[in-house]
Amino acid sequence: MGESREKLVLIGNGMAGMNTIEHIIKLAPHKYDITVFGSEPHPNYNRILLSYVLAGDSKVEDIVIHPMEWYEANGIHLYSNETVTSVDTAGQNVTTDSGLTVAYDKLIVATGSNPFMLPLPGADKEGVMAYRTIRDCEIMIEASQQYKKAVVIGGGLLGLEAARGFLNLGMQVDVVHIVDTIMERQLDRTASKMLQEALEAQGMNFLLEKQTESIIGDERVQGLKFKDGTVAEADLIVMAVGIRPNVALARESGLEVANGIVVDDYLQTSVPNVYAVGECAQHRGAVYGLVAPLYEQGAVLAKRLAGAETVPYEGSVVYTKLKVSGVDVFSGGQFMDAEDTKAIRVHDEFSGIYKKVVVKDNKIVGAVLFGDTADGTRLMQMIRNGDDISGLEKTAILRDNSGSGNGGGSGVAEMADDAIICGCNGVSKGTICSAIKDQGLTSVEEVKNCTTASRSCGGCKPLVSELLSYTLGDAYEKTSGKETICGCTDHSREEILAAMKEKGLSHVKEVMSVLAWKNEGGCSKCRPALNYYLAMLNPTTYADDPTSRFVNERMHANIQKDGTYSVIPRIYGGVTSPAELKRIAEVAEKFEVPTVKFTGGQRIDLLGVKKEHLTQMWEDLDMPSGYAYGKALRTVKTCVGDTYCRFGTADAMGMGIQLEKRFERLNTPAKVKMAVSGCPRNCAESGIKDLGVVAIDGGWELYAGGNGGVKVRAGDLMMVVKTESEVIEYTEAYLQYYRETGIYGERTSEWVKRLGIDTIKEVISDPEQRAGLCARMNETLSVTKDPWKEAVNNATIRKDLYEVVEIKS
Ligand SMILES: Cc1cc2nc3c(=O)[nH]c(=O)nc-3n(C[C@H](O)[C@H](O)[C@H](O)COP(=O)(O)OP(=O)(O)OC[C@H]3O[C@@H](n4cnc5c(N)ncnc54)[C@H](O)[C@@H]3O)c2cc1C
Ligand code: SF4
Repeated sequence: MGESREKLVLIGNGMAGMNTIEHIIKLAPHKYDITVFGSEPHPNYNRILLSYVLAGDSKVEDIVIHPMEWYEANGIHLYSNETVTSVDTAGQNVTTDSGLTVAYDKLIVATGSNPFMLPLPGADKEGVMAYRTIRDCEIMIEASQQYKKAVVIGGGLLGLEAARGFLNLGMQVDVVHIVDTIMERQLDRTASKMLQEALEAQGMNFLLEKQTESIIGDERVQGLKFKDGTVAEADLIVMAVGIRPNVALARESGLEVANGIVVDDYLQTSVPNVYAVGECAQHRGAVYGLVAPLYEQGAVLAKRLAGAETVPYEGSVVYTKLKVSGVDVFSGGQFMDAEDTKAIRVHDEFSGIYKKVVVKDNKIVGAVLFGDTADGTRLMQMIRNGDDISGLEKTAILRDNSGSGNGGGSGVAEMADDAIICGCNGVSKGTICSAIKDQGLTSVEEVKNCTTASRSCGGCKPLVSELLSYTLGDAYEKTSGKETICGCTDHSREEILAAMKEKGLSHVKEVMSVLAWKNEGGCSKCRPALNYYLAMLNPTTYADDPTSRFVNERMHANIQKDGTYSVIPRIYGGVTSPAELKRIAEVAEKFEVPTVKFTGGQRIDLLGVKKEHLTQMWEDLDMPSGYAYGKALRTVKTCVGDTYCRFGTADAMGMGIQLEKRFERLNTPAKVKMAVSGCPRNCAESGIKDLGVVAIDGGWELYAGGNGGVKVRAGDLMMVVKTESEVIEYTEAYLQYYRETGIYGERTSEWVKRLGIDTIKEVISDPEQRAGLCARMNETLSVTKDPWKEAVNNATIRKDLYEVVEIKS
């Protein structure tokens, strides 16, 4: 069957190329054998959402558009981490950096752009970087743990998103911009100044009208020098000054290249059977740097390659929304005033709202919205349609969205069926409404999964929600506004817990069946949550469901990117002995562990362990699991306290060991880290732990909800107690309260913020409530078992989970 298929090769596993492939598969599932090459070591991910990863609101896994299984399921050969280095357009094949050559009948070049790096003296120093990839995000997050001062060069969309990310990472940030207004390519002066004020209030510092002369420092950057002679300090510099189409490969392969790879209205390049799409392509003189036009190109190219009829691609009208910063900004079309334009303006300085609609020859040609962007989609539609507005009241063009107008402020009811709701993915009102009706969709998440609307920047989520309300009426009102635990159910966490209690539900499948889960098998979000909630409610009777756990928790070891595991035994309070160290060293030697590393939590990590060695290593180590993989108590970091330190007022090591022995193996909604310091000098960093204990004269302070990770948060002082046994008692109550009221996956830093420290104090200070919480904690702790010992002593577990079976062909 496969032999008759044509060979389609895609260079560039990014948003534009993969969107095209997804369309082709839908239109002509059996036409091509598809091979995709991508330089990055990831499946296709949503680059737009990198800012959410940087801001700490999403994880890398959350922004993947096409997971590895998707390629597999669609029979696509994906070569990630593999760069195409040459294209032989006569022989119709491509060759990669690893020497692989693959033939094609049709080739799509979608190599995107490269960030432009200013060629400044010193730009090659360590700590100077761009912002484009997952790797860049990782470097920025890592750097924020060591360095405190970032400078972003470039006050455009990307620069501001990077700067907001740095603020979230706890860094100070200066934004350097060459002119006196930020985002000047998207905003007029009024909106730009309003945005600047809003961002300054968030802690961003702007250095405007500054031209960088050089980057100073030794090996690593220390600052920037400007042409006016002033300097700014910096430990990290991000250049966000624009992008350049990535055309080197195309040029070397003989394709016609101007700024980008020149394509016609069907995305065909100057060479037969070779097409280009995305940021690398130049169409009618324009190169685009936003997703919506690239997806419009992809839709045309996909139809062409699938053999379907298509209108030509004639260019795009673009619009921009600022994400992440919490400030609503929209700009689209030709938004600057010109001699032949007039504008309708609303500027409400009290509410911080500014709207400008630019009109030329009775047609709307551009708009800027600040503070209230609900009109954005409708105005874009009017711009695209070229609607004549001469008959319209000016007030009908700019609505007052502050009231509770019928059908929502954006007037979805009056929109035409072909009005585009999701600009990024080109999804119309008609498509969304039909999907809601025909597929029985009831949530924004379901609409996203079914139609792709809101899958990219997410800016149209409010409109999708309004369409749900408009299409479903009261039925939607009942489910909207309620946080469901995932798209598989309409039930909230509270409703699920109530049902578990009232109906006595006792396993994951039963919950899904009784509560009529929409997705029969559940998903990776709800199954682990249900497993946790059931165990929390029924600690002594519930049988853990390993199939509802993430792989690390199932294996009791962290799987690493190369498929090996890491083994971290528990070292109570970070205090060990020569005998224990010798044993760890012997095990590391015996199993040829390639890397032995101290962790930030004062223990030892054996990295690069083969799966088949895990149980034997655990047996030889004869130490308990450190739970470094689990939503559970991880570490209790301690300082030496009064045992050795002359400032110490209490036995910090002893207290830490007691706490760790008491709460090891306790499952919690998210990981829990603790620390004990022997005096307020706080050498064990108790202020940034889920529970921080600090010795003071005659007692102990307990700090709650601290976090030293991506979203740094100082813990709140929760309690001052006198004795060690009170430390244990209050910790029991605190952790049990967290276990009972925390949302699965929610760290204590978010939980404390959500509930308020006063509420938590009130509950655990109340003797009756505290006693109840401690009793339930006792019950839970009475049945915990060490998972490593269990695996060592149980042949079935060993065989099922850790044995490697060789498959002979
Ligand atoms: C932080 C950030 C925020 C953004 N926010 C928005 C936004 O809010 N709205 C919006 O519309 N746009 C936004 N963008 C822009 C948007 O992400 C891009 O327009 C879009 O990703 C471009 O898609 P592409 O497929 O053309 O290029 P890319 O996504 O860059 O994909 C190209 C891929 O090809 C690979 N590649 C290149 N050469 C080769 C080779 N020779 N062999 C193999 N692989 C190769 C690259 O490694 C890359 O993975 C943002 C971009 C960033 C970085
Ligand atoms: S926290 Fe206090 S007691 Fe502990 S090591 Fe530091 S100075 Fe010494």
